[in-house]
Amino acid sequence: MKILTDFDGVLTDPLHEMGRMREVFEEYLNARAGMASLALLAEADAFAAAHPERVGWENGGRISGYADEDGFVAVNGVAALMDRMAREGHLAALEVLDRLRAGGTPSFERVANDAFDRMAHETATTTHRPADPATGPVLGALLDAGHDVLIVSNSSTGRILGILEKSGISAYSHGETPKPGAVRVRGDARKFELGTDPSVFLAGRPVDIARPKFEALLREERPDIAVGDVFSFDLALPCALRLRGEPGFEGLHAVLRRRPYTPAWPTAYLASEPRLAWSVIDHLDDLVRIAGA
Ligand SMILES: [Mg+2]
Repeated sequence: MKILTDFDGVLTDPLHEMGRMREVFEEYLNARAGMASLALLAEADAFAAAHPERVGWENGGRISGYADEDGFVAVNGVAALMDRMAREGHLAALEVLDRLRAGGTPSFERVANDAFDRMAHETATTTHRPADPATGPVLGALLDAGHDVLIVSNSSTGRILGILEKSGISAYSHGETPKPGAVRVRGDARKFELGTDPSVFLAGRPVDIARPKFEALLREERPDIAVGDVFSFDLALPCALRLRGEPGFEGLHAVLRRRPYTPAWPTAYLASEPRLAWSVIDHLDDLVRIAGA
């Protein structure tokens, strides 16, 4: 079987890194725009908590993943919301954005991206090992059983290879000479990138599946199993391709790796759609059973 899996949140335990990204985001806001930025952030957080279906990581002005889907998207989501508030003339947001711009930061989104980069740098340069303890044994068991395991992630290939290496897991970059018994990695996949025209897939929430970059990758790889912890980025498009009866996707099995932060709506959607093959797993070990020997 070919197993295409996301990285952060599936093969890592990301709670520490998510907390750190949020912490750095607050530090950067405060350092670059002062205390007023934190009051604005509290207002944005309250809106996001009250209206999770209206806040998310935006791409081209459209929501690509919802802020309640994971802690990284949550930071990108409130940043996008604060940019939107400024565009819509919210006074405090405009004032804070002015201060950011005066210091050379063009947008709230940039602050979120800088916070992610700083967190990723810390992971790479400290002893922190975010790989889920089950990752090594599970990937080993899948490879031993003859499965083809491919990591497709928005994170950079370098970050993924570095984290896997720290945990003693053999991997190589897509495009390099294949290493026998190792996992192939396709980073910088930009699963969040949306095409020009929206294509809405109703999965309890409307999820935009106009993701030309990810779709091209999926059509090239034609996985039997797709694994992810963020439904919008990882599973919506594979599920839609199966439901459309696209050649090569008729048998696709969608696996949602549930984490403490996973919202209820993706599971409720999967449970409501009898035409899909799906699993929701709370332990990575379950993937070995799903893939079969
Ligand atoms: Mg993920």
